[in-house]
Amino acid sequence: MKFTDLGLDERLLEGIDAMGYETATPVQQQVIVPILEGKDIIASAQTGTGKTAAFLLPLIHQLLTHPHETHDINAMIIVPTRELAIQIAETMEGLSYFTSVSSIAVYGGGDGTSFATEKKALTQGVDVVICTPGRMIAHLNMGYVKLKGLRYLVLDEADRMLDMGFNDDIMKIISFLPRDRQNLLFSATMPPKMREMARKILHEPVEINIAVSKPPEKIIQKAFIVYDAQKVAIIKDILSTKSFQRAIVFCSKKQNVKQLSQELKRAKLSIEQIHSDLEQSQREQVLQDYRNKKIKILVATDILSRGIDIEDIDLVINFDVPNDGEDYIHRIGRTARAESTGTAFTLVSEKEQNKLAQIEVLLGQPVPKGNVPEEFGPTPEYNPRKPRSGSGGGGGKKRFSRQRKQQ
Ligand code: AMP
Repeated sequence: MKFTDLGLDERLLEGIDAMGYETATPVQQQVIVPILEGKDIIASAQTGTGKTAAFLLPLIHQLLTHPHETHDINAMIIVPTRELAIQIAETMEGLSYFTSVSSIAVYGGGDGTSFATEKKALTQGVDVVICTPGRMIAHLNMGYVKLKGLRYLVLDEADRMLDMGFNDDIMKIISFLPRDRQNLLFSATMPPKMREMARKILHEPVEINIAVSKPPEKIIQKAFIVYDAQKVAIIKDILSTKSFQRAIVFCSKKQNVKQLSQELKRAKLSIEQIHSDLEQSQREQVLQDYRNKKIKILVATDILSRGIDIEDIDLVINFDVPNDGEDYIHRIGRTARAESTGTAFTLVSEKEQNKLAQIEVLLGQPVPKGNVPEEFGPTPEYNPRKPRSGSGGGGGKKRFSRQRKQQ
């Protein structure tokens, strides 16, 4: 799902773009709309799923589009640790960069200057406060915190706050807040005491569970960060030097399947292609030849990424990075079926780095990066957020020997 489909404010879309987010993660897809509708939320979502933006985006949108008291605190985000407060404040700064929405992180451990800066903001009003419980209470006890206009409360990593013994502090902070407000609670786990706390704080909440998709652990995954022009040579090298029983090479577009197939045939590799331009009977013949081991390598579009069940596929190569994490999981899931193990390589060009980053968000962990042998020349850094120009790299060469049709 694109962020434009969520009806978010234009200024916010600019911030999302600058952060390098392209599509909404599953938690964002499920959480943003009910928050925009004003509902209370209880969401079980882990760090790494994009949950911070899931609550910040609708919050900033509401502040941009609804009249609110500019000399008060409008939203309070309570978090267990100062590290998390700083991290959320940074994401907030990035997402709200093109807006006038203000924010401050309020956490313990700083010097006297930071306390004074916090006091000033809390006295004069700031749109969003991101705070740790103890520090917030220290300010609240002094009586100057402007909370009359507060309309949003977020509890992030609520289970961790309970584990750290912040239950009473949180309830005390809440006793200072106006009753008429929207409450959002995020927690990785939902133990009974979490539910009990939720019952006290939330009003008819929408419950959201994000089941994190995970590929089987026995698949050895590697991503190679390369220039587009290096991909064909690297694939040829892998397919001619690595030992495997059967391999599938996935491309996102049938045009790429056709061109890559030609290149691999020229290299005398045992390959066939499969995509939607083939007649049904041709497809079946190709699959049969592959099953019977007449051919060792299939070059395919995503029509093969779901559903086909062929044993002994022990190597999957993603020539193009799939468009989303679910497709990635389906593609690499073609290998290591049942008891066997498998390897999944993904070639990542410069313009695809953001896509890989997004997949890593869904997986909740990075895909280990592989070393490209020196003979292929220098490779780019993995630096997904940096805006980069064009897709070429590698001295502007096209990845295929003939000019590639623009698609
Ligand atoms: P979080 O779960 O909020 O800690 O987010 C984990 C990481 O995912 C952070 O580095 C975010 O900047 C990043 N992230 C959040 N949403 C997206 C998205 N829609 N696309 C790509 N990256 C994202």
